Amino acid sequence: LAKAYLGRIAQSDLNAFIHVDEGLTLAQAAEADARIAKGDTTPLTGVPIAHKDIFVTRGWRSTAGSKMLSNYISPFDATVVKQFRTAGMVNLGKLNCDEFAMGSSNENSFFGPVKNPWDKIAIPGGSSGGSAAAIAARLAPAVTATDTGGSIRQPASLCGVTGIKPTYGRVSRFGMIAFASSLDQGGPMAQTAEDCALLLNAMTGFDPQDSTSLERPSEDFTRDLDKPLQGLKIGVPREYFGKGLASDVEEAVRGALREYEKLGATLVDISLPKTELSIPVYYVIAPAEASSNLSRFDGVRYGHRAADYKDLADMYRKTRAEGFGDEVKRRILVGAYVLSHGYYDAYYLQAQKIRRLIAQDFQEAFKQCDVIMGPVSPTVAWDLGDKADDPVANYLADIFTLSTSLAGLPGMSIPCGFGKGEKNAKRPVGLQIIGNTFNEAKLLNVAHQYQ
Ligand code: GLN
Repeated sequence: LAKAYLGRIAQSDLNAFIHVDEGLTLAQAAEADARIAKGDTTPLTGVPIAHKDIFVTRGWRSTAGSKMLSNYISPFDATVVKQFRTAGMVNLGKLNCDEFAMGSSNENSFFGPVKNPWDKIAIPGGSSGGSAAAIAARLAPAVTATDTGGSIRQPASLCGVTGIKPTYGRVSRFGMIAFASSLDQGGPMAQTAEDCALLLNAMTGFDPQDSTSLERPSEDFTRDLDKPLQGLKIGVPREYFGKGLASDVEEAVRGALREYEKLGATLVDISLPKTELSIPVYYVIAPAEASSNLSRFDGVRYGHRAADYKDLADMYRKTRAEGFGDEVKRRILVGAYVLSHGYYDAYYLQAQKIRRLIAQDFQEAFKQCDVIMGPVSPTVAWDLGDKADDPVANYLADIFTLSTSLAGLPGMSIPCGFGKGEKNAKRPVGLQIIGNTFNEAKLLNVAHQYQ
């Protein structure tokens, strides 16, 4: 199985992988074979998986899509990587992503953009673009990804695959290269909700090495997959269907809602009034945390160091000027600004307060419904290059995913049809399913019944 996937990866021109090492993969496959021969298996033993290159791995490079870490080899495995190894999964390699997971199109990667397998002139979405493209093109049956403001759901949507961002704290952040620590959350992508449930079983659980890890009893996320949906109340937020939503996306999402009605669900009109504010709030909080997290890349401890410099300060300056791309620098600047004395109250503190109100919006909504549904992305995948020089256009495309992250809630994307690209190509549309805290099993049930 591992060999077959390695063969497909070698033939692919999507640029989904940053680092492949056949020897390392086949050694893990041989270990899995030995376990299977002994009968020491889990449902995932021997199944290949590839990791977003934001999870550190022993042996493979761990780059975070950045020049800063382009040759960095971690001395340890991220908890998630370790969990999948313990389950017997076989690592196929490291997947391309936006630099430090900052982006919505995968065009911010030092290793170049990933192509969307459905239409190679289109972006795959971001920041987990390599992860989504690998599933869509059958380069891996399972992948890891991370979602800080939509990076699992949006690329899953634009590439027509299934992905789930669990409740904040479910999946360990230990060894996940940090972007915005109060938002970062790992999760799986695969072909189906059932596969995602099996992967979540292996990747969740309390980790004493992550200070925000949830201490909760372990769960079997497959337990409710087959429950009928009779009586399910689906909240449909008005704010997710207003202007700015492309008509082809709206049509596909409304078609999925009609299917849910046929499955016995009822639609409830709800309001998430602070939706629009999620963009300014997220783009204050995420850069603030990023500016702090990324201060560790100083040329001393990890990765790139400038070749010529006069003194220590000059070394820091040159290393960071050379090692970070434009979007990362932009966020460090914004983050340092909103945290600085005199501006902290006006921006950062204000954003934190509105973050709380956004979370309260959801709690109000969940008094009326069991899950919330809407689009993931306001449009289908756009063409590579179209918004590459327009950061604000990229930020605005995150409108439907950011608030879930700010509230720490679980969210999913499942394929629900196709829209049209500018040149009339077939481009996937994802349906977003949002649940209340800890309701992953419900989301997976709702997704599985549709699939
Ligand atoms: N597109 C958002 C950003 O650029 C979200 C990225 C993410 O979830 N990692 O920050």
